[in-house]
Amino acid sequence: MTEAAAAANSRAVRGRVLTFLRPPRSTGDAQSYRFIQDGIVLVKDGRIALVGPADEIATRLPASIAVDRHPDALIMPGFIDVHIHYPQTQVIASYGAQLLEWLEKYTFVEEQKFADPGHAARNAEFFLDELARNGTTTACAYCSAHPSSAEALFTAAHKRNIGMIAGAAIMNRNGPPGLLEPAREAIAASRDLIRRWHGTGRQRYAVTPRFAITSTDEQLAEAGALLKEFPTVLMQTHLDENKNEIATVKRLFPNEPSYTAVYARFGLLGPRSLLGHCIHLGDDEVALLRDTQSVAVFCPTSNLFIGSGLFNHKRLMEAGVRIALATDVGGGTSYSMLRTAAEAYKVMQLQGQNLPALAAFDLMTRANAAALGLDGEIGTIAPGAYADLVVLDARATPAMAHRMEVTRDLEEELFVLMTMGDDRAVRQTYIAGRPVL
Ligand SMILES: [Zn+2]
Repeated sequence: MTEAAAAANSRAVRGRVLTFLRPPRSTGDAQSYRFIQDGIVLVKDGRIALVGPADEIATRLPASIAVDRHPDALIMPGFIDVHIHYPQTQVIASYGAQLLEWLEKYTFVEEQKFADPGHAARNAEFFLDELARNGTTTACAYCSAHPSSAEALFTAAHKRNIGMIAGAAIMNRNGPPGLLEPAREAIAASRDLIRRWHGTGRQRYAVTPRFAITSTDEQLAEAGALLKEFPTVLMQTHLDENKNEIATVKRLFPNEPSYTAVYARFGLLGPRSLLGHCIHLGDDEVALLRDTQSVAVFCPTSNLFIGSGLFNHKRLMEAGVRIALATDVGGGTSYSMLRTAAEAYKVMQLQGQNLPALAAFDLMTRANAAALGLDGEIGTIAPGAYADLVVLDARATPAMAHRMEVTRDLEEELFVLMTMGDDRAVRQTYIAGRPVL
């Protein structure tokens, strides 16, 4: 290959580079991350080829390579959102209801519109644009119950080379007829989507029973069997979000000792299982999550907005449960993982707990990648990983710039970013090395 040809598939991004190596144990845990004050990330064919101090790398770059310079900004791995609903971009900000009423009054109404492939395609494009504007480079998304809605999202994400995880919602009871499919048909549709999309480019599938209330025993059992049949496919659902929801689960599954036990019985727990909310867990449920290495997904803006309750981070952490962080749009109120981290901080403050900025940024990147089983591939700035990057400006607004005048170190800068930042702090987003803003 000529140097010019090599340069065409290459790009260098220069600035202040920050990536996490392991979970921070406390504030000031400098061993948990790598920070390069003037660093270069060299991208080749969509992946990171090299990262290091500019004075070491600059002389080794081909003369014709494009260099994007962000000297005053932070270059980090793109954010990862582990729980979001792409058919709810027009459900967000729906007034005055808690979970079950909110589903019936707003969500099921909007999701039925995704029977129309044109509507789904338009929303998929909007959804991916909005993620990019917020610096989110991978998301684990619920689609509507229509297989064509998943098809639309995968098609759009594949075209942009975005690593998405998604699944068509499986439901066969307690919803409007337009969203219900007989147990076996929904499973067959999921199997077909897995064969078509799981491992196609960067796309991956998540088997998606909406929650225990909307599936019969038979359908949950079939979903569990599907997970067994495809050992690298993920599973996403909701758990212990709202007290009326839990009472309904108790009524529908009278023989199970808990909500979590329902999922355990049907083979839906395990290291590939992502359980949204996990707010009102009994001790036996915490033990089940820990023992099965399932992931509890903290969705703070949603939990506050729908009035569901406070996620007990400290309790789950100390019990050894894996934890991820997510927006849960449209129950959640912002696509921004920065805003999400800010609300996570407040939810923890209300319980006398703290969320150090280092831990929050580790969660949004490395830890969320690990929750998806994608550590090393995304969520890190290291050779071999996809060059999915976000460039963050902690002086993006006058109020942030003013606050930054007295900021003393990196950790304070990160705390300003997560407390005051949102999409305005995202200066650029790179998807597999390509700037998309
Ligand atoms: Zn959700």
